[in-house]
Amino acid sequence: MYQLETNCIHGGYSPKNGESRQIPIIPSTTFKYESTEQMGRLFDLAESGYFYSRVGNPTCDHVAARITKLEGGAAGILTSSGQAAIFYAIVNLCKAGDHLICTNEVYGGTYNLIAVTLKKFGIESTFLSVNSTNDEIKKAIQPNTKLIYAETVSNPSLAILDIERFAKVAHENNLPLVIDNTFPTPINCQPIKYGADIVIHSATKYLDGHSSLICGVVIDSGKFNWECDKVRFAELCEPDESYHGLIYTKQFGNIAYLVKMIVQLMRDIGACNSANNAYMLGTHIESLPLRIKKHSDNALAVAKFLEGDKRIKSVNCPMLPSSKYYDLAKKYLPNGICGVISFELNANKEKTIKFLDSLKLISIATHVADAKSCALHPASHTHRQLSPVELKAAGVSEGLIRISVGIENENDIISDIKQALDIAFS
Ligand SMILES: *Cc1c(COP(=O)(O)O)cnc(C)c1O
Repeated sequence: MYQLETNCIHGGYSPKNGESRQIPIIPSTTFKYESTEQMGRLFDLAESGYFYSRVGNPTCDHVAARITKLEGGAAGILTSSGQAAIFYAIVNLCKAGDHLICTNEVYGGTYNLIAVTLKKFGIESTFLSVNSTNDEIKKAIQPNTKLIYAETVSNPSLAILDIERFAKVAHENNLPLVIDNTFPTPINCQPIKYGADIVIHSATKYLDGHSSLICGVVIDSGKFNWECDKVRFAELCEPDESYHGLIYTKQFGNIAYLVKMIVQLMRDIGACNSANNAYMLGTHIESLPLRIKKHSDNALAVAKFLEGDKRIKSVNCPMLPSSKYYDLAKKYLPNGICGVISFELNANKEKTIKFLDSLKLISIATHVADAKSCALHPASHTHRQLSPVELKAAGVSEGLIRISVGIENENDIISDIKQALDIAFS
């Protein structure tokens, strides 16, 4: 049993005598067998083994196993992107006519997927605040509800989820809690410890951390008992005719959910990742504990600087005692959160744009969670299509700036912000 830092380096891959020290890149679509019988058994799921990289690739599996170990899960897979991971996590349980509950405070792409695209597939949803009471959550649950979905720390609003409370309400109603743990990474929070059943990631963010690849992960805690409600989870507890009547919970026990995802969704939809991407991700994870600590420390230093400057109206960083999420952050994320913060300038749109355009070190980019600091102006960028009234409802003011604090020297980052404020307010 090693600690997180050690598992970031050694987790998911143990070379034997004479084998490569680094996770090997196996960029092969296919794998060879000696007999028809041998490969037939793989197709029947009677044996496990590689045959086609859409359904499984050794490099991808080593890296998925590394992240699964960090999260304390039972099994995991890499997907082509974070969006694909979310799609799989939901569609593995929901079909047309089903329903799910999602918190309001989620990534824009997640909101669109659930509210617009999945609705076209006949999957209904109810959105509620992370601050909802237990009764409000319970009232949203319907006989056809299959899961509750939320983010540990929401992108971009930085709301913190009371994971234990949501897990308790979910479990009392025979529902799994699915958590997007992208922002804190398993170094700063492991949602399974607090009752989450499925964890997903956009590995594109801090897990990679160098804006070099797009990748998602789905991790099964192995703890949810799908047979607690055989009608609700019939797809896991009833025979699958596409595999000669196989019953996932009978054959695969506590990892039934993840196996079903591989053999149905990877087989049919094919949002897999590549061995080359997986290799790079696995290598970048080796330094994750050092990076995420520096991101959190730098973000807190920047937040404190901003809070002390009278040109700044407000700072949103749950690591500051002034945040309404401070107590939850202390409980679930005692070592820090991540590098993303936002703040509001005491300024109109023109001045705010002048500030952004005057930054030298910090680049203007839509990305977050990169080693390089970057910033954007939601009113001009991510929320550009909204009317002034809609912007107000979304909590996006003209002076709002989102910044993803990188791992450069903290004084260089603060000096850059300071000189840009001086120009904008001159
Ligand atoms: C970026 C992001 C996603 C989507 O991930 P991609 O890898 O870009 O598809 C999902 N959730 C959160 C919280 C994100 O930040």
